[in-house]
Amino acid sequence: MLADFHAHSQYSFDSDSSIESYLDADNRLLVTTEHLELHNSAHNNMDDIPDFVQINRNMAAIEEESRQSLTTVVGAEVGYSREHFQQLEDILASQPIALRLLSFHAYRDHDYIETEAHRDLSDSDYAYAYFDMVLEGVEKLGSQVQVLAHLDYPLRYRESLASDALFDQYQPQIEAILLACARQGIVIEMNTKSMVKYGRECLYNRLAELVAHLNSPEHPLEVCLGSDCHRAQDWHAHFEQALAMVNAHGLKPISVEGMLERRMV
Ligand SMILES: [Zn+2]
Ligand SMILES: [Zn+2]
Repeated sequence: MLADFHAHSQYSFDSDSSIESYLDADNRLLVTTEHLELHNSAHNNMDDIPDFVQINRNMAAIEEESRQSLTTVVGAEVGYSREHFQQLEDILASQPIALRLLSFHAYRDHDYIETEAHRDLSDSDYAYAYFDMVLEGVEKLGSQVQVLAHLDYPLRYRESLASDALFDQYQPQIEAILLACARQGIVIEMNTKSMVKYGRECLYNRLAELVAHLNSPEHPLEVCLGSDCHRAQDWHAHFEQALAMVNAHGLKPISVEGMLERRMV
């Protein structure tokens, strides 16, 4: 079974799952990526900053109890914030977070899930502003993160933006983002929740095609799979489908060793 590099436990504001429920016996791995989201408008504007020291302790205890060699990886899904950038940068510099997924959940201090907050934007302004922010975030935080998560996130809340049309129109911006990721060794996530639950298989297929096209020996561009699960039954969901999709473009998801080599602490 391929490793799942995107899972939320009770340390995330929106999950009740135990960390133990994500123990990956096949890969002898325990990874969670908890939401680190400043001024989280999807959660009463709270600063959601998990206690990463406590997660490290909790994982070490599980490792000991399991009596098998287990690699534990404390991760975060880091929500980019233009408005609170300095605070975010300080947290990333000081917290023991080994694996960092970079996400863009909010624009103008509102999560994209709050569709009312972005209703004044036309489809094209909405997409343009998003890709512009992603490129900015990758350039500013690239040395602090290892994975770019769910590139389609705002599209989950705007069905009028069709995947193919969007890809045709914004390919130069998407390419610039991928090249910035390649320069900084950032892995591109194939988010299986977006692919299936939010119906963006077509977008991820185009994305995989573009990753394969831009991948080069000087600037290798890799992909990983993430289920973006908040409960154990969704862990590794639709991985066979995602694997077949990337394989069709000659890509292989990054190995566990490859990801572990990128650990930051
Ligand atoms: Zn979540
Ligand atoms: Zn997310």
